[in-house]
Amino acid sequence: MTFSVTVLGSSASIPAYGRFPSSQVVNHNEKLFLVDCGEGTQMRLHQNGFRRGRIHHIFISHLHGDHFYGLIGVLTTMNLLGRNKPVHLFSHSAILNVIKVQLEVAQTELTYELILHPLDGLGQEVIYENEVIEITTLPLNHRVPCWGFLFREKRLARRFLSEKAAQFNIPFHMIPRLKAGEDYITPSGQVVKSLDVTADPPEPRSYAYVADTAYDETLIERVSHVDLLFHESTFNEENRQRAAETFHSTALNAATIASRSGAKQLLLGHYSAKFKDLEPLLAEAKTVFDNTLLSMDGKAYTVGRPTALEV
Ligand SMILES: [Zn+2]
Ligand SMILES: [Zn+2]
Repeated sequence: MTFSVTVLGSSASIPAYGRFPSSQVVNHNEKLFLVDCGEGTQMRLHQNGFRRGRIHHIFISHLHGDHFYGLIGVLTTMNLLGRNKPVHLFSHSAILNVIKVQLEVAQTELTYELILHPLDGLGQEVIYENEVIEITTLPLNHRVPCWGFLFREKRLARRFLSEKAAQFNIPFHMIPRLKAGEDYITPSGQVVKSLDVTADPPEPRSYAYVADTAYDETLIERVSHVDLLFHESTFNEENRQRAAETFHSTALNAATIASRSGAKQLLLGHYSAKFKDLEPLLAEAKTVFDNTLLSMDGKAYTVGRPTALEV
């Protein structure tokens, strides 16, 4: 089951050195979730081979321009492509004011339904789930209301081992029950143990997207043991004062959260235009958390280990 994050933009508010403002595509099991939508997102989607028609869920962390100025472009291009399926938008509700004005001025009417799921006032809550994954908000500590998003796979049923089971002539309707742990008794009275014909499911994987935030130790508990942690690292320690004033983090802050929360891997991003060379940020993070990567525009990162398909 695919679980990956493609970074479309790794820049903070002023795009620089070819880095676009914030946007990512989380691909879980070929379902695409667009996370933040900075200026140029639709071009980046195109460049990275993501068809806009495959995006049904858009998550906006907060209403600073570098996280949503690309939204009207994505939404109206979907219109031009004749979209009729609804788009679910998870955001602070004030975003609707902006979209309304832009559509009105351009005398454009959407051909599809735009369904807003307001984040206003939400604490840490599940805002989306399907059979295999759930997405939870992570309230952050920024100058305006801001949320990160935690993607956690659900624990699946045990895997059915059809080769091992072949000799028992197990009726089809018993397979889900065996996967749920129930044993099966054949017509001749033989007991087929669930444990003998099923295997442990893969360990659920998780991805945390920590958007703009001041250093916040409450995250340690809230993003505990994720496989991949994206944590903004707008600055380095030399600019610690500036980070505090603007409610942003340093690379060292990000690495400290990664280390203390037990993350398996850390992805840095949301880089200030101060940094042409990002190596100092990486080096700083690695002083406390070695398994750190610099996120780069157009690169995809796997969450945890790819797992075999379920039977
Ligand atoms: Zn930002
Ligand atoms: Zn911001």
